[in-house]
Amino acid sequence: MCTGGHQLGAQVSAVLFGDKNQDEEAIASGADIVYLFEHPGESVMVEAYSTSITELLRAEKADLVMVHSSIRGKLIAGRIASQLGTSAISNVTGIRVEDGSIIAKHMVYGGAAIRTEKALSETAVVTIGTGVFASMPKEAARQGKIIEVDSNVDDAGIRILESRPKQGELVNLSAAKRVIGVGRGFANKEDLKMAEALAAQVGAEMACSRPIAEGEKWMSKERYIGVSGVVLKPDIYIAMGISGQIQHLVGVNQAKTLVAINKDKNAPIFKHADIGLVGDLYKVLPQIVEKLKA
Ligand SMILES: Cc1cc2nc3c(=O)[nH]c(=O)nc-3n(C[C@H](O)[C@H](O)[C@H](O)COP(=O)(O)OP(=O)(O)OC[C@H]3O[C@@H](n4cnc5c(N)ncnc54)[C@H](O)[C@@H]3O)c2cc1C
Repeated sequence: MCTGGHQLGAQVSAVLFGDKNQDEEAIASGADIVYLFEHPGESVMVEAYSTSITELLRAEKADLVMVHSSIRGKLIAGRIASQLGTSAISNVTGIRVEDGSIIAKHMVYGGAAIRTEKALSETAVVTIGTGVFASMPKEAARQGKIIEVDSNVDDAGIRILESRPKQGELVNLSAAKRVIGVGRGFANKEDLKMAEALAAQVGAEMACSRPIAEGEKWMSKERYIGVSGVVLKPDIYIAMGISGQIQHLVGVNQAKTLVAINKDKNAPIFKHADIGLVGDLYKVLPQIVEKLKA
């Protein structure tokens, strides 16, 4: 997010909660000022800080506030937007500044279309997912200011009763340069080993279509790509046994090269692929792995 703000050419302020270790990372990534809020603790929801954040935005006369498109991020963005008397543009997939205005693109109709919106409020509020901005090397020598904020906690109307660690994998697919995606063309979980062998050979991350994660539960939810999953920007994406429905494609259509392997020559994925291989992946994949060994 800090890198993205920096790319928009603006002065960037980062709001962090409690974790001092992230200050330097935020500054190295493009933040000029870090506002450090006290950690909300065990029972306070992070969105209870929205009034304090809104006050900061007003004081800074911020043109734009970007919040991560997570469930929690959307809650905070909604509260900030309502306090600023505006609305939030959520799930933004592209953002630019044009004649001093913020122009944001986001998906509508489940990813079937992209809508471009111009923010008319003094401060535009958007939520942005991973992979929207190009990653840039961090500059360890960058200097920035760290300001500890004495914040007030709103009565958010909700109190945390219990917290449990999230079960899942820590994987940053958006940063991967090479990604192999597997779909329902694989008949068994065991067979994914074929794709994993290729991924190991070419140094690629494994990803999947939604049914593989949500339906079959063969891979973790952190690895599914698309409108409701992760958005990628790799150099190469290899889709295996994936039909290429729009909800999946919106997550990969920014790949520099899209390769598709599918036994159905009419599969929609071929309309978007740079290289298409019509064939049974159970025959094609072992041959590719063998060829690469040679
Ligand atoms: C609101 C909404 C949100 C959604 N969000 C997402 C999302 O974020 N991400 C996502 O992925 N999906 C999403 N979906 C689901 C999406 O519409 C598709 O159903 C899904 O992407 C299909 O997954 P698939 O391509 O693996 O399976 P299928 O569509 O079943 O395709 C399997 C493909 O494998 C091919 N195949 C079969 N056997 C072989 C073989 N032996 N060799 C080679 N090819 C073979 C077939 O020809 C077929 O093209 C969403 C749906 C809705 C309604």
